[in-house]
Amino acid sequence: MGKRILTASSIRALRNCRKSYFWRYVEELSPVRTDAALRIGSVFHECLERWFRLDLEGKPKDETAVAAILAHIDESFPNRAGDPEQNRLWHQTRGMVVGYVARYPAESFRVVAVEQTFECPIIHPATGRASRTFRLAGKVDALVQDPDSGEYYIMEHKSTSQIGGSAIEKLPLDFQVHAYVLGLSRSLGIPIAGVIYDVTAKVALKQRVAETTADFEARRSELLLKSRSGKTSAVQRQAEADSEFQARVAERYRDPEMFLRETLYVSQADVDEVEAEIWELTQQLLTAHRTGVFYRNDALCFQFNRPCAYFPLCRAGGNPNFVENLYEKRPAHSELATNGDESPAF
Ligand code: SF4
Repeated sequence: MGKRILTASSIRALRNCRKSYFWRYVEELSPVRTDAALRIGSVFHECLERWFRLDLEGKPKDETAVAAILAHIDESFPNRAGDPEQNRLWHQTRGMVVGYVARYPAESFRVVAVEQTFECPIIHPATGRASRTFRLAGKVDALVQDPDSGEYYIMEHKSTSQIGGSAIEKLPLDFQVHAYVLGLSRSLGIPIAGVIYDVTAKVALKQRVAETTADFEARRSELLLKSRSGKTSAVQRQAEADSEFQARVAERYRDPEMFLRETLYVSQADVDEVEAEIWELTQQLLTAHRTGVFYRNDALCFQFNRPCAYFPLCRAGGNPNFVENLYEKRPAHSELATNGDESPAF
């Protein structure tokens, strides 16, 4: 048997709830994806990949290049004319991309690689012995180099509903960031100075829909009641045209606060600590595989006030009917072959 792969996503699942690890990485079940946030994140990610590849390939980052990226968004939401949800996602993603390329038309660093994968041994922290069972693998969004210092940095693109806050505060402790530095530096044999966390906010604007006649009459009656003259100039509101809404979204993305780039310098001591944690987890995982016991962590079933993606399955004791309707078979670590992060269970 070949060695088993561990990624930052699978280790996160293992640390959070072993049952979720079991469903995703042993049974290879994944929830059927319907989450709009994930769809936006993944198309936006694909667009940034194209944008950074221009640097990598020495191609101009001009209007033609931007038009090609916007065409990719159009293709990603082909039914937007008749599907309000697709139309919303299209507006959102387009606004983010147009705002991003205006905010960062050129980079001060050299793009060394885009969507760079890695795979390397997991080393026992005390003995220096490589694990005979597990290897660490992953994929980073980009590897860049400071042309002045020659230092290498991993670049990670994130889209979020809110810039700043705890996600940035906890970066120095972020497991994924340190696992990426460990894996990529060991795999490529180069020192990596840190991680540039590249965050774009998702705008909360909504396209105005047409006012129904009933709603208009109700609003008009209210205005008439308040009017001293007994008259009102109110007219029935029309739906906001796509072009109008797109202009409003674009205006929002002209605000620099919709974007953040935070550089985290990673010390060797932090990387060593993370590797020691990974080693410890490999030992626990060996035991779980041997005994078949992947215990549940019910404290996380409703984290963030919503059910874990595997909640229906856990509650039904793995009933095959639930599997068929709500989950699909997807190979473990499929994100290494495609764009974006693994769909989070929590
Ligand atoms: S529902 Fe609860 S026990 Fe089941 S996988 Fe999710 S967090 Fe774990």
